[in-house]
Amino acid sequence: MGTIYLDNQATTPLAPEVFDAMLPWLKDNFGNPHSPHVLGRQAAAAVEVAREQVAALLPRKGRVIFTGSATEAINLAFGSVRNMAPQGRDQIAIIDTEHAAVRDTALWYRTQGFETKLLPVDRQGLVKMEGLEAFFGPKTALVGAMLVNNEIGVIQPIEQIASLARKHGALMLCDAVQGFGRIDLPDQADLIALSGHKIYGPKGIGALWVRDGVDLPPLIHGGGQEQGVRSGTLSPALCVGLGMAAKICAERRDEDGLHIAALAAKARDLFSDWTVNGALDQRYPGNLNIRRDRLDVARLMSEVRGVAFSAGSACASGSGRPSHVLAALGLEPAQIKSSIRLGFGRYNEIEEVERAAHLINQAAESQLS
Ligand code: PLP
Repeated sequence: MGTIYLDNQATTPLAPEVFDAMLPWLKDNFGNPHSPHVLGRQAAAAVEVAREQVAALLPRKGRVIFTGSATEAINLAFGSVRNMAPQGRDQIAIIDTEHAAVRDTALWYRTQGFETKLLPVDRQGLVKMEGLEAFFGPKTALVGAMLVNNEIGVIQPIEQIASLARKHGALMLCDAVQGFGRIDLPDQADLIALSGHKIYGPKGIGALWVRDGVDLPPLIHGGGQEQGVRSGTLSPALCVGLGMAAKICAERRDEDGLHIAALAAKARDLFSDWTVNGALDQRYPGNLNIRRDRLDVARLMSEVRGVAFSAGSACASGSGRPSHVLAALGLEPAQIKSSIRLGFGRYNEIEEVERAAHLINQAAESQLS
């Protein structure tokens, strides 16, 4: 029996339609999309179709810039603060529980003369709306807020945060990596980052949506590709893969949503002895972060080899650092160490969730007895 894959927040398998769409661009259609001859023009046309497919899921009145990852898209977006600094805007505000791609970038800007503030969350993992406005002012350049938390799955009140950012003249960056193609995106964001490999697309490609009128300095200098901000030859195969993945997400949104909700409901039932970390309702159901007191998760993971899942205690960005997200919820170190994250996706079946729950619960019981 193969491994049961329940780690869809870390990455998702490639959709078969995406693989089929990419193949010709890896084989015979090898033209450089920036060449003026026929092979180049064909590749460029495919890239533009993909751009439209991604744009179709994003707000209108903006442009899509392809990047190598969501992390790169986020780094590109942060460049906007350089343009804001001469207007006296030298503050950045992000939610305390952002993914390292946002958090570490925001903290790095402290070394560039910016002040970075961390917006606190409550015990549910939701940003504390009360008193939030005190964090914004005429010096705020950029507000970074994620749509769905990658570790605990909670959905942040993005529209409200975006309204506050707008009220104070700041730009709003939404890290939509875990929500893109699944739940509604904020209308008021100025910058939205997404990633191919979280939506059943390929690894090695992401995108940044930029609202019309928002100026970004180049992140990568060179031949001037991607509207001059991200030079380098694009991979038509990766662009086509991301475009197709986005298209399928849009077409299957309701179907995928129902399927994942059913998997999650089954799991909540089967793990009823565990405590859910984070808000119970305001969450994306495909993410279940749960804990059982006194459990040694490192041991559990080595015992349950047939299931690919994640230790809630290690930062889910893969850095191996202890989870700053669970700590921000106020969990004790022992509780953090006894947490696991299960991620359900389009290709999981109910039987897999049942089998995984059986294996995990069995190992947990024998450890705790
Ligand atoms: N933001 C969130 C919320 C994520 O979950 C991830 C990936 O884990 C990223 C950003 C980074 O995405 P990428 O792997 O495309 O750089």
